Amino acid sequence: MFNNELEVTLQKATADQMKPKPDQNSLGFGQFFTDHMFTMRWTRRQGWHEAAIEPYRTFAMDPAAMVFHYGQAIFEGMKAYRGKDDQIFLFRPQDNFSRMNQSALRMCMPRFPQERVLQALRAMVYLDQEWVPKTSGATLYIRPTMVATEPALGLRPAEEYLFFIICCPVGAYYSEGFSPTRIYVEDTFARSVPGGVGNAKTAGNYAASLKAQALAHDKGYTQVLWLDAVEHKYVEEVGTSNIFFLIDGEVITPPLEGSILPGITRDSVLQLARDWGYPVSERRITIDEVLAAGRKGTLQESFGTGTAAVISPVGEFCYRDECVQINGGTAGALATRLYEELQAIQFGYREDPHKWRVRVG
Ligand SMILES: *Cc1c(COP(=O)(O)O)cnc(C)c1O
Repeated sequence: MFNNELEVTLQKATADQMKPKPDQNSLGFGQFFTDHMFTMRWTRRQGWHEAAIEPYRTFAMDPAAMVFHYGQAIFEGMKAYRGKDDQIFLFRPQDNFSRMNQSALRMCMPRFPQERVLQALRAMVYLDQEWVPKTSGATLYIRPTMVATEPALGLRPAEEYLFFIICCPVGAYYSEGFSPTRIYVEDTFARSVPGGVGNAKTAGNYAASLKAQALAHDKGYTQVLWLDAVEHKYVEEVGTSNIFFLIDGEVITPPLEGSILPGITRDSVLQLARDWGYPVSERRITIDEVLAAGRKGTLQESFGTGTAAVISPVGEFCYRDECVQINGGTAGALATRLYEELQAIQFGYREDPHKWRVRVG
């Protein structure tokens, strides 16, 4: 299972298998996929095998494949950045693969050899390097995924899995400026429960969140602020991002106690805030504390963190009948500084004291 000697074969796309590149100025998100993909299979008897970088293709799946019925599916989201001197970088990719192995453990799926898969990913991004956008702020989004493929009904962990990585060029997240979001504080639906799978990047979590998100959208909000499922009192996450507050000079984010996804951007923000001398707390924070600080004027900033947007400033929280505006509905100084610093590190334009960058090729 932890066969670090796992052999990866390479089959390059032929000229007629290669796709035309999309217009780099209208990439959107997740619309176009590169010429290659990485795949490997797992069976109880053989462990991981048939690892290959190969031309992008569709899969044939048995309708009884267990992922369709019992939802063993996990994924990751990371990016490749084209920066200084046309170099291409990944950002903390080891952390994404470690987290994926944690998700695998939680979902009774097999762990995979991280170092070998990272090597294969680097080779694949190198091969598809022309797909890494050159336009400012645009990136190559990378989606590692694992699903249960064994064709069988009856609830138990599957004994066959498919792991794959696909990549898509995506546009700059803030094509219309670093604009703050309007957030609906959700106090009926819950994203995750104590003892559940909220700390695993597993597909069902996202299906479960769609309803609340759709209702909030209908009411004109950008995202949902999730509270804990037991008391609907403690702040957990915002949409599919981790949440931060700056209250009276203190940087606050909820602690990782099982119902929150351990974001890599979250961890990077904690590190930078500490580097910059901010008092930083990973502690429980109630929605009442947030609103009270809003009323008092000590709620200086709030922002979401995640790979897709990096930093997403919150302009306003609305809870029941009350809305509090933050920083006059504009992005704050800390959010802006974090956004610029993280991007500068990711694209290779600034020192990388924590060795977060990994070069491709
Ligand atoms: C992926 C994800 C995040 C952000 O994680 P990053 O590693 O920073 O991209 C936060 N919350 C949820 C629910 C997520 O799925």
